[in-house]
Amino acid sequence: MITHLRLKAYGKINLGLDVTGLREDGYHEVRMVMQTVGLHDRIELYRCQKPGIRLETNLYYLPVNEQNLAYKAAKLLMDEFSIQEGLAIHLRKFIPVAAGMAGGSADAASVLFGVNRMFGLGLTVKELMERGVKLGADIPYCLMRGTALAEGIGEKLTALPPMPQCQVLIAKPGISVSTKTVYKALDETELRPQDHPDIDGLVDAISAGSLPQIAGRLGNVLELVTASRYPVIYQLRDAMREYGAVGAMMSGSGPTVFGIFTNPRGAQAAYEYLRYGAGSSMARQVYLTNLYNRGSGARHQD
Ligand code: ATP
Repeated sequence: MITHLRLKAYGKINLGLDVTGLREDGYHEVRMVMQTVGLHDRIELYRCQKPGIRLETNLYYLPVNEQNLAYKAAKLLMDEFSIQEGLAIHLRKFIPVAAGMAGGSADAASVLFGVNRMFGLGLTVKELMERGVKLGADIPYCLMRGTALAEGIGEKLTALPPMPQCQVLIAKPGISVSTKTVYKALDETELRPQDHPDIDGLVDAISAGSLPQIAGRLGNVLELVTASRYPVIYQLRDAMREYGAVGAMMSGSGPTVFGIFTNPRGAQAAYEYLRYGAGSSMARQVYLTNLYNRGSGARHQD
């Protein structure tokens, strides 16, 4: 019997993000190229005799009830399978919150994986994805991980060849951006054809395994909206480029900015500048990480 599981919930960046339509139910149709990065939250699950779900986290401002996606994910499976035992979830967050890195979705995906395993529910990853999408459009991708094209509302996934390894600098400015507000502002913006990223070109570059081509085709239609309100996003992007990033861009609805580096020294210098140096006023959280390309399955576990 499994009584304790250690899980790693990895964050993502968007190499490409285009919005292609608005559905009647209010969801946006998207075409996104997703990439998992090494930056992750740590989750521990403990099986307990006392029924119910108890969640603890290191961030005082996060909900610890059904508002938390990790809680929701556990409850979804425990209700469906009438699990009478209890579950304690210890969540240590490192992925910036409300930042465009799908941190909450990653936690939910790992908890779905963990609860399935701990209680021997026998669900396949596909079956976990079908349940996960009810809680959030990015959860199926967070179960799959790696490099992928996400279409529909983000749940229609096509695996792509792994992006060539590189260093990824992540910087989140000290502002909070609501995904809802960004999409609403996008709906009110007149977009020109050239504002849409070349997602097909980006997919071709990934298939060709060419990092310079990938870097040249990064594009996020939401960057226009968020960065026009928060110039610090462009300032971070430009700073990363000055330090030698082959590409830099906002992830998701922001405000996190990531830079792709092929030169580890440049990446380290940029990290130090934003973390400790004159650039530190631009970013509240700064991480230097790399790509995570090992896919789904057992690797949700430590
Ligand atoms: P996306 O990239 O999918 O837009 P995000 O990075 O913008 O995701 P999250 O970090 O997932 O956003 O969190 C958004 C909101 O969800 C937060 O304001 C937070 O209060 C709530 N939330 C619920 N559960 C979690 C969780 N486990 N981790 C982080 N935030 C959570």
